[in-house]
This record gives sequence, C-alpha cells and structure tokens, in this order.
Amino acid sequence: MKLRLKIAIYIILFILFSGCAIPHKMMNPVKGATSKSWNSKSYWYYPWGKSVTHKGIDIFAKKGTPVVSPQDGIIVQNGENERGGKVVMVLAPLLRLHYFAHLDSIQSGLGLFISKGDTIGFVGRSGNAKGKPAHLHYHIITPIPYPWRWSSEVQGWKKMFFLNPAEKIQNESIF
Ligand SMILES: [Zn+2]
Repeated sequence: MKLRLKIAIYIILFILFSGCAIPHKMMNPVKGATSKSWNSKSYWYYPWGKSVTHKGIDIFAKKGTPVVSPQDGIIVQNGENERGGKVVMVLAPLLRLHYFAHLDSIQSGLGLFISKGDTIGFVGRSGNAKGKPAHLHYHIITPIPYPWRWSSEVQGWKKMFFLNPAEKIQNESIF
C-alpha cells in the first residue's frame, strides 16, 4: 500500500474514532420531516418483498425535498442500483454507514467530506419506489456488531448490524 494512502486511511480512522467521545446530535435527514413522516412500524416490517424485512425507515416527503446528512462524514457511495435507485452512503462517526435511497437526484461527490446538515440529494421515487409516493429510504449499518440487539424476529440476528434510524432521530443522539 502506498504511504500516502496509508496516511489518508489513518487520518480518516482518527477522525471517525475521535468522534466516539463526543455526543453527536442526530439530524433528521429529510428537511422539515417529523416523526409523523414515517410509519412507526416501518423498521423491521415483515414481510418486505425481496428484502424479507425492512431494515430501515421510509420517510415520506414531497419529491424534491432536500436530503441532508444527519452526521459529519465522508461520501463512500453515490450511484444507482436496481432496488434503491439513486443512492448515497455516508461513512460517519462510530464507523456507521448511513444509506439513503430512492433519491430523485444526487448532490454529493464520492470521497468528499461533508458536514451535518449538508445537502446530499433530493427525495424521489427512483428504484423500486417507482409509482409509489415519494420517500427517502434510510438505514444505518454498523460494521461492529451489537450482540444485545439480536432478536427472535425474522432475520433478527441482522439487527446486530442494522440500527433503528427512528430511535436515533427521536433521541436526537447516535447512541
Ligand atoms: Zn424502505
């Protein structure tokens, strides 16, 4: 591995881990949305088509509503896939990956550092949300598993990796 790349990775890891010590207020990723903008049973809803269970929440808003980063982070994915349509993923403190799907358009460059509240795209109905009301699919992945979150529900072991965004938004905290 090139030295420069190594140094860059160490700097990124330092930024991410140093974030662990500071309480980070979570921001709602959809401008103007409230807890009424999603169904309270949205997270881990079963059955949920090809995904089996719904591992995030769907925040409903008018098409074109700005989607903002709920945390400081780095854009690690921006592009398109079949189910998600136009998607963005942000690597944020605690090494968490915040994933946003069904965007109408993306406004974020791959590899860029972004601050909490920066616009990363706009609410839409791309991917398998075509023909449905516009909404933002939002899920949070932790690569570090939290064993106490394991449940007996369908795919309950995956709860160790997929956190409940509704909890984080409502508590206004990532913890
Ligand atoms: Zn969804």
